[in-house]
Amino acid sequence: MPETSQQKRIVVVGAGWAGLGATYHLAKQGYDVTLLEAAPYPGGLVAGWKTPLGRSVEGGIHGFWYPYYNIFNLVNALDLDPFTPFTRSSQYSPFGLEVESPIFQNEPRLPTPLGTFIYTRFQRLPLIDRLSALPLLYAVVDFDNSHEAWQRYDKVTARELFKQFGVSARLYKDAFEPMLLVGLFAPGEQCSAAAALGMLYYFILAHQPDFDVVWCRGTVGEKIFKPWVEQVEKVGGKVLTNKRVDDLILDEFGNAKAVVCGEETFEADAVIFGVSVSGIKKIVAGSKTLNRYSEFRDLNNLGGIDVLATRLWFDRKVNVPLPSNACFGFDPTTGWTFFDLNTLQDEYKDETGSVIEADFYHANQLLPMTDDEIATKVHRDLGTCIPEFREAKISVRSVIRVRQGVTHFAPGSYQYFLGAKTSIPNLFMSGDWIITNHGSWSQEKAYVTGLEAANLVIERLNIGEKAAIIPIEPDEPHIQVARSFNKTIREISRNLLPDFWLP
Ligand SMILES: Cc1cc2nc3c(=O)[nH]c(=O)nc-3n(C[C@H](O)[C@H](O)[C@H](O)COP(=O)(O)OP(=O)(O)OC[C@H]3O[C@@H](n4cnc5c(N)ncnc54)[C@H](O)[C@@H]3O)c2cc1C
Repeated sequence: MPETSQQKRIVVVGAGWAGLGATYHLAKQGYDVTLLEAAPYPGGLVAGWKTPLGRSVEGGIHGFWYPYYNIFNLVNALDLDPFTPFTRSSQYSPFGLEVESPIFQNEPRLPTPLGTFIYTRFQRLPLIDRLSALPLLYAVVDFDNSHEAWQRYDKVTARELFKQFGVSARLYKDAFEPMLLVGLFAPGEQCSAAAALGMLYYFILAHQPDFDVVWCRGTVGEKIFKPWVEQVEKVGGKVLTNKRVDDLILDEFGNAKAVVCGEETFEADAVIFGVSVSGIKKIVAGSKTLNRYSEFRDLNNLGGIDVLATRLWFDRKVNVPLPSNACFGFDPTTGWTFFDLNTLQDEYKDETGSVIEADFYHANQLLPMTDDEIATKVHRDLGTCIPEFREAKISVRSVIRVRQGVTHFAPGSYQYFLGAKTSIPNLFMSGDWIITNHGSWSQEKAYVTGLEAANLVIERLNIGEKAAIIPIEPDEPHIQVARSFNKTIREISRNLLPDFWLP
């Protein structure tokens, strides 16, 4: 009997964007795919659930930026309509409103980064501070997401990079550090300069509309993952929740032949991991197999970051000018965002009082506080941004602590991040921390790396068609010219000068 993909069993671990993306594609190609998820619901960091009183909550609100082409493509293919229109956003500090962003795609298109500088409405930041960002453009051109560029910039902190390039203290504090806290979840002195440049280029600088964002009109779990899992099951994939994977079993040739999950084992011809940094560290700690490989032991050098997601129901409507807001300057190393859910989410449109989600990133010092203390702090900070909140009373609150939940792109961490291929030939990695040339970040990156891992399985087992992955939009022509000129100069100097200095 000729071998068919039905006979090839694939086990995927972790049902976030990465794991479900890989599962869906391989199931569509006819593989026998089993997805094992430790939590009671699929979704990973974007899972949503209901409280005992039937109110929807989630571990943080998630934006979908303009260049999330692969996710938008998936959502269209699934025939879903989960998103709001593109929304404007603002930034607040303890002094009040600082910045308002337009919808950039609606403004006349200018060569990057002119649109970002000209159309963003800074309320207080002096022009001289904004102009101090100009020298940084050299680093933006020099960091082309290549392996060499990561090696050059990863061991420098983002703060040091901005300092070296002459960014003013005020621009750093009022613009760059808030972006790092929201985009990489950590303050500049704890972020790799490579990650900072990669993230800022992808979300803000590469093309004028890139900073435009839509939001889910409910939890991502309910609006996207639930119908997506139904579709995965329709094409034959199995999604099993409450299955925490502990180990792998290898055959005599060093290939993975089964995945261990408590008392059960799931046999596999190939395995894909789609778990977070803290998830994989826990698996490695208890795994006799993975512990034998230095690349997996080395993962202990990586870390996660604490995040706090709160949802407050107020006794009255407060006028929130724009639905999504980022805040800085309230705590020295914590950034936060707040969202007007009455505007963004269908469920709250007709509520008589405001429903506000406030999420805190790098929230280490907030996690030990009681729920009441946290709600009081959030209420106070909201009142600082929009004084009308001071009069409103909290009627219900939800507090979710996501310990070590998001990837920490710490200086020096690149050397320990894994690529999709591992020393175990049929074990592939995916997730928002896996090295890829694609250039995307966060949810889009997680989904793309899931597809890339699925494609490696197809390449290895030689059955089925690879997923078509939409690349990010090419650099604008002037950036291409600048990068190519810079690369030539680098190559010439590499040939002329001894390999003597630190990269
Ligand atoms: C508060 C907050 C706000 C965010 N905002 C945004 C945003 O606005 N836009 C954006 O694009 N991104 C945002 N992100 C980041 C985004 O959520 C992640 O990049 C993305 O969801 C990561 O997906 P993933 O599949 O790589 O991993 P995860 O979502 O972490 O999924 C991994 C899965 O593996 C499971 N798992 C772990 N260990 C095991 C095991 N041993 N056995 C079985 N299963 C296991 C976990 O339970 C989990 O379901 C935000 C994150 C947070 C926390």
